[in-house]
Amino acid sequence: MSKKLIEFRNVSFRYGDEQPWVLKNCSFTIYENEWVAIIGHNGSGKSTIAKLMNGLLFPQEGEIFIDDKQVNSESVWDVRKDVGMVFQNPDNQFVGTTVQDDVAFGMENRGLPREEMLKRLDDVLSAVGMEDYRITEPHRLSGGQKQRVAIASVLAISPKVIILDEATAMLDPKGRNEIMKTIAGVQKVKEVTLLTITHDLQEVIQADRAIVMNDGQIWAEGVPREIFSKKEALRKIGLDVPFVSRLADVLKAEAIPVTQEPLN
Ligand code: ADP
Repeated sequence: MSKKLIEFRNVSFRYGDEQPWVLKNCSFTIYENEWVAIIGHNGSGKSTIAKLMNGLLFPQEGEIFIDDKQVNSESVWDVRKDVGMVFQNPDNQFVGTTVQDDVAFGMENRGLPREEMLKRLDDVLSAVGMEDYRITEPHRLSGGQKQRVAIASVLAISPKVIILDEATAMLDPKGRNEIMKTIAGVQKVKEVTLLTITHDLQEVIQADRAIVMNDGQIWAEGVPREIFSKKEALRKIGLDVPFVSRLADVLKAEAIPVTQEPLN
């Protein structure tokens, strides 16, 4: 069994004493090198979970551990070194004037030696398939390419977990597909735990495991196939099972053999 990397123990959270609870008694564990998708309709509490993981917020009840360290006001700076974040808007994530400057920025901040920086730069740009764009200005990139660079920048500082909070939400279908392939590729070549936050069940297909949120509570947890089998119940909480999964069901019902080709 892999090592526990993230643990939520009976976590409840609200944005103020007079506010409603937006997370209610949530407990789950994420293991090293897993790809876990947190899925739920808008307002179900997903982004709040991400903010609690890197200490932007602290729970009123329960405990959160990242790599055995409890997240609190004392540990927060240490914890943030372990947690890399990629956000929704590709245009808000650039600090450099070229792709390579951008990826180098976080490494410079951490004082990495130049040799090590150059090595990591090559390594992470090829992990996201952007090695041919080193001196490109970010505004010349497509949305999907910008998000790939954002992933490379986070990978370069070697966090233990990367949280992608609706990182595909502002992309067109081509860009979305590009990012899902990039994430799957990164998981193969890098020792990193990935947490993708999404409201789109289509993006759960390739993950190792999914945690389904509804109204601030964990509604289900399991491998994508198990989750998709709850089709009707999912629809009632505002989530539509992906077309490919529905198609597989039809083929099975009609006893047509389904090949093991990847679903893309
Ligand atoms: P999701 O990411 O699933 O869309 P969020 O975690 O963003 O959900 O939000 C969960 C609930 O918390 C929602 O009802 C939302 O309106 C509320 N909420 C989010 N941010 C704030 C805030 N800063 N102040 C008050 N309520 C908030």
